[in-house]
Amino acid sequence: MRDFGYLRAPDVETALRAITAEPEARFLGGGTNLVDLMRAGVENPGTLIDITALPLTEIEELPDGGVRVGALVRNSHLAAHPLIRTRYPMLSQAILSGASGQLRTMATVGGNLLQRTRCAYFYDGAARCNKREPGAGCDAIGGLTREHAVLGVGDACIAVHPSDMAVALVALDAVVEARSTRGTRRIPLTDFHLAPGATPHLEHVLAADELITAVELPPSPVAARSRYRKVRDRASYAFALVSVAAAIEVRDGAVSRVRLALGGVATRPWRAYEAERSLLGARPTEAAFREAASAELASAVVTPENAFKVTLAERTIVAVLRDLEEAA
Ligand code: SF4
Repeated sequence: MRDFGYLRAPDVETALRAITAEPEARFLGGGTNLVDLMRAGVENPGTLIDITALPLTEIEELPDGGVRVGALVRNSHLAAHPLIRTRYPMLSQAILSGASGQLRTMATVGGNLLQRTRCAYFYDGAARCNKREPGAGCDAIGGLTREHAVLGVGDACIAVHPSDMAVALVALDAVVEARSTRGTRRIPLTDFHLAPGATPHLEHVLAADELITAVELPPSPVAARSRYRKVRDRASYAFALVSVAAAIEVRDGAVSRVRLALGGVATRPWRAYEAERSLLGARPTEAAFREAASAELASAVVTPENAFKVTLAERTIVAVLRDLEEAA
């Protein structure tokens, strides 16, 4: 690891002034991904701006029934909070399915949204990687791809977005609040992460001098009966091969509301709009669930090693929707 400077910011204004003066610096929250990236030589910030003393640790109910989550709320705290467990159970389940207890206790909500892919070539300085070094090439394409993405892939990068939490947040229409010295802006999470296209090193729309200060969850009655299911190689401390965040409401025999998002299969947290469109107004039958799942996966681009994810994702979508419907 290279030498770096360290600044402990006592308030948001100091943190923003520091990052404006040195855009190559990085904010340090839980550090559960950033420190690994520094050890691997992927990230080499000249300065770490420690933001853990900032007052961004509250979970508050909003007047409209939504919930505001400070960016420095620890993942374990968010998962256990009664407002999250009762109003957005898919979010609580998604967080608890990720990483380990120790990591969840350190990791923050803002940091989770910015965590980077676990593609092995990305961490291997001897491998070619367009995300680490734009224009270098991609050793994953034509290499070992069992864990790689099948949705939202491009010619330059097929890396999977690693977050579980972000998949639930995308399904819940969460909104990211970001501050800089220029002001505050709100970004729908569905627009926050970028598909790799020709520029896989650009992973989100946040500017270098912006700080995530909160994530807001809009009120969502359908989310009170929601699920997150993660399929992985072992029962804990493993990234998703496929994950599904889902909520469904049926009125007068037809699907009136549905929220569906996928993890483990895409280059960014994947809102399953095609499946949602297919389900709205349909009778909630196994056949309708199957049709919606295959509509979503129709655009998959696979390799021989990761083609199994298409069937696995379709079956997991159907299973989660069936479970929700049977529990209604
Ligand atoms: Fe790099 Fe993306 Fe290729 Fe992995 S898939 S080696 S992250 S460019």
